[in-house]
Amino acid sequence: TRPKAAYFGAGPALLPTSVLQQASIDLITYLSNPVGVGEISHRSKDAINIIDSTKAHLSEILNIPDTHEVFFLQGGGTTGFSSVATNLLASFAAKTGKKGQPAYAITGTWSKKSYEEAARLGLEPQVATNGINSKFTGIAPVDQWKKLDPETTPYIYYCDNETVNGVEFHAPPVEATCDGKIPLVSDMSSNFLSKKIDVSKFGLIFAGAQKNVGIAGITIYIIRKDLIPQVGTEELNKLNIPITPIAFHYPTVVKNNSAYNTIPIFTVHVLNLVLKNLLANGGLAAQEKENVEKAQLLYGVLDKHPQLFNLPVAKDSRSKMNVVFTINGEGKEEEFVKKAGEQELSGLKGHRSVGGIRASIYNAIDLETVGKLTKFIEEFASA
Ligand code: PMP
Repeated sequence: TRPKAAYFGAGPALLPTSVLQQASIDLITYLSNPVGVGEISHRSKDAINIIDSTKAHLSEILNIPDTHEVFFLQGGGTTGFSSVATNLLASFAAKTGKKGQPAYAITGTWSKKSYEEAARLGLEPQVATNGINSKFTGIAPVDQWKKLDPETTPYIYYCDNETVNGVEFHAPPVEATCDGKIPLVSDMSSNFLSKKIDVSKFGLIFAGAQKNVGIAGITIYIIRKDLIPQVGTEELNKLNIPITPIAFHYPTVVKNNSAYNTIPIFTVHVLNLVLKNLLANGGLAAQEKENVEKAQLLYGVLDKHPQLFNLPVAKDSRSKMNVVFTINGEGKEEEFVKKAGEQELSGLKGHRSVGGIRASIYNAIDLETVGKLTKFIEEFASA
């Protein structure tokens, strides 16, 4: 076991100790096998059970309708950037015979990277909104975004929580979909299962596991079934749409129940243990309630000292997962990190691209631990 850690890193992030204890037992020997879960065949009954059980738990937690399919891909969020672009272009081509130009809402570092990947792949993406001029400190109201044409827009992409900038959508931008005619694609890598969502509103959701729900190596996808058609290579070549590498080709992966090639089954098993733990602790409703309380507590104490703490993000777009702030005064931020470290509060340094302080309070950080941090912040402010 280990002492309770007050670790606020942005990801990979803290996981419940009980989950890791079970995972470490299963890594040595799993069920009736003479070997551990990382050593069994990905075609074995036990491995298939892990995949099916994980999918079932996700469906239960998120109330996923029959219209949608869950699958897993190796890799992380970045794998999603490329695979979303090529797969969804192909599915748009299957429906319309056209290439189209996907639209991106750029609200921070990660949606910007995803947009850039679509451009790098030659898709000439549209910009639905771009917050770069205001340094990604808020989200423009959806009615001020570019008006999109469903005839030529294969999907509208956004990042539900921008991990670096601390910017989160408090409601998904469904108004941008032209009454659902344009599939809504969401990167939920850093707030997946932190709150209730209505899956039926989405064409595709993807999330790297390593923040709220597991360890790095696996990415969860939830896709509307009509968006996974098989499209011939010849047709894609004709339309100048990049061919998706086979390991990331959604129709192939779905057809093979996420085990077209060797799925990292230990990583899926850890994900499944996290899901079981979430269900045993009251599911998404309880988790969301606690996340709201944690964020209120932390923002509350920071807002109380505006001369010292500067919170750049507009209140209606503040992230409940990544609380980003700077501290006024020469050397104050270094002092903050150092003093926090002395109280065993770690992982608080801001992302290298933006500096400042970032406290990531993902699902595994409980209210008590956030309480410890806020107490330290109070002391720091009154010193
Ligand atoms: N999207 C978001 C919202 C992220 O926070 C990150 C990583 N922090 C990524 C995508 C990229 O994920 P990965 O490093 O797993 O490729």
